[in-house]
Amino acid sequence: MTQNPDATPSYSSRETSESFAYLISELSTNLINAAPEEAEVHIEKALAALGCNDRKDRCYVFLFDDSYKQMSNTHEWVNRGITAHKEELQNVPLEAMPWFFASMRADGQVVVPSSQNLPDVAGGFKDELLRESIQSMMAVGMYLEGRLIGFVGCDLVQRACDWNEQDVRQMQLVADMITNTIARHRTEAKLHELQAELRSANERLAQLANEDSLTGLINRRGLDLALATELRRMQRKQEQLSVLMVDIDHFKELNDRQGHLAGDVALQCVATELSRAFKRSGEVVARYGGDEFLILSPSMNAEEAEQRAAALLGSVRCCTKASEITVSIGIISFIPGIDTTPEEAIRRVDKAVYQAKNNGRNCFVRRSYE
Ligand code: GH3
Ligand code: MG
Repeated sequence: MTQNPDATPSYSSRETSESFAYLISELSTNLINAAPEEAEVHIEKALAALGCNDRKDRCYVFLFDDSYKQMSNTHEWVNRGITAHKEELQNVPLEAMPWFFASMRADGQVVVPSSQNLPDVAGGFKDELLRESIQSMMAVGMYLEGRLIGFVGCDLVQRACDWNEQDVRQMQLVADMITNTIARHRTEAKLHELQAELRSANERLAQLANEDSLTGLINRRGLDLALATELRRMQRKQEQLSVLMVDIDHFKELNDRQGHLAGDVALQCVATELSRAFKRSGEVVARYGGDEFLILSPSMNAEEAEQRAAALLGSVRCCTKASEITVSIGIISFIPGIDTTPEEAIRRVDKAVYQAKNNGRNCFVRRSYE
């Protein structure tokens, strides 16, 4: 117990009044049930209840930062006609009031019956009380897992007060309640943060599992899923699905001539070009494997697919500066049947590419699906 040498408070053994006990139990129920966004209001209500009991002038919560360098007034209740100080009491350096902080750490409470009678050693703290015209104050520590995290306190502006044991006990009850609420919300906030991290890590993982690391396009695995989905969807809608397979011409030669790294760059260039050319909603561009790419264009007929393929032949030629690249393209456009499988669609479009290679490369071939 921190005691002023000149005015030792005389604690009586009076029990907490029944009405205050009732109020406390009600407040504590409110705080326990409060959602994080409501908690602030309930904490302020608890301070108001503390304040109205025995007509205090100001009740407040201060929290220390983790390194005990500063404290901030987080909640405040003031009686009618009393000046609020919360706004100006943010990030207050603790070194300005070493006596207060040392007493709080040592005793878990600071009880000041009369600020005039504080010892000189209380220096900065005494000055602050006098500056705010506080005649008397009391504060009790808030402990979270044994660590002092802040304090709940009250001021009397108009009068000095011989605080008694019951006053301290009531203050401690409110402090404990508020600490529990803060603790619960910190834990919940941490939990939400961790859940969000976990969610985005999982999303990223799922994405990576379906993503080709060199080009950033979806990979074979992702394509299998997308193709199965589009076949079903177009079958239901009875609309045409166009599938284009794009294979780089003489890519092995390019690798041999210019090296594997240049080959990788060429693959990235073609991937970028394909993504640029097929970015309508619902269109899928995938790296099927090696130097082969696959494009799904839902609700696109054969004529349009051929036009897009022709345009692609032109744009791919210009896409790398270092080497001229050409591609061969196979196309199928069809309304999927109820029993059309992804494997069958791939086999058919692969045949179309094969034909384009045989036709001299740098061209497209569309095969009918029948
Ligand atoms: P064609 O005109 O008939 O398509 O001939 P091609 O040389 O392109 O065909 P082929 O399938 O024989 O060659 C594909 C080459 O792609 C073989 C392989 O070494 C190379 N390749 C596959 N994956 C990669 C890759 O990730 N990076 C690089 N640089 N090369 C790759
Ligand atoms: Mg090739």
